[in-house]
Amino acid sequence: MTLELIQIPCLTDNYTVLGHETETGETFCIDAPDARPILSTLAEKNWKLTHLFITHHHKDHVQGLDQLKKQFNCKVYGPTKESDKIIGLDELLIEGDTFNFAGHNVSIIETPGHTLGHICYHLPDDRLLFSGDTLFVGGCGRLFEGTPADMWSSLSKLMALPGETTFYCGHEYTLSNVEFAMKLEPNNIDLQTRLHEVREKRAANQPTVPSTIENELKTNPFLRSSSQELRANLKLETASDEAVFTQVRHLKDQG
Ligand code: ZN
Ligand code: FE
Repeated sequence: MTLELIQIPCLTDNYTVLGHETETGETFCIDAPDARPILSTLAEKNWKLTHLFITHHHKDHVQGLDQLKKQFNCKVYGPTKESDKIIGLDELLIEGDTFNFAGHNVSIIETPGHTLGHICYHLPDDRLLFSGDTLFVGGCGRLFEGTPADMWSSLSKLMALPGETTFYCGHEYTLSNVEFAMKLEPNNIDLQTRLHEVREKRAANQPTVPSTIENELKTNPFLRSSSQELRANLKLETASDEAVFTQVRHLKDQG
């Protein structure tokens, strides 16, 4: 089995990913920010969309749903907890649900915080995660609906996945995230290296997504509540991990 992945920039800073299993010809798409670039990539590759995997109800993740469904009659998957907000879902998913895509196991991780029903799609055997607007490269989603405690518990689930897991997220926010991280941990060598790499990539107009869980654990300040340097800079040496996360999220929202 070979899963071919193509990441497509959409709108201003959104990404979607097409996943095509060459043996069966089936193709999934992660979210539907804008049907046009998705349709043109499908046409170029001569792929037929069979599955659409929705992470959450925000407009910049669902506004192409209707057009894609009409064109391909694809099956649309999405969170049970947001089924009242998303029109056109065929398969409703909750924490722990598993299903098969073209011979690949997919398992659902509920990650409330950015929205209350947000889900991530995990392909454990492929070491792949589609994290939507929960985990970003160098950052995490804003808390529009959930509490910091919700998001910390959601991120903790993703932090526990194998380090080599590659993840794709919904937006290109990395440069601003890494510049923010440098204020909190200026002596983190992995972070310094990352800032350099990210600046080079963005200057060349290249994506910084995907990343791996291992990279994030080393450099993403939202996952680094255990860092002594970060704690010292926040004057939270003895606070809980959740309290450190809450303060990092608060500071990012201000700047
Ligand atoms: Zn969103
Ligand atoms: Fe978004």
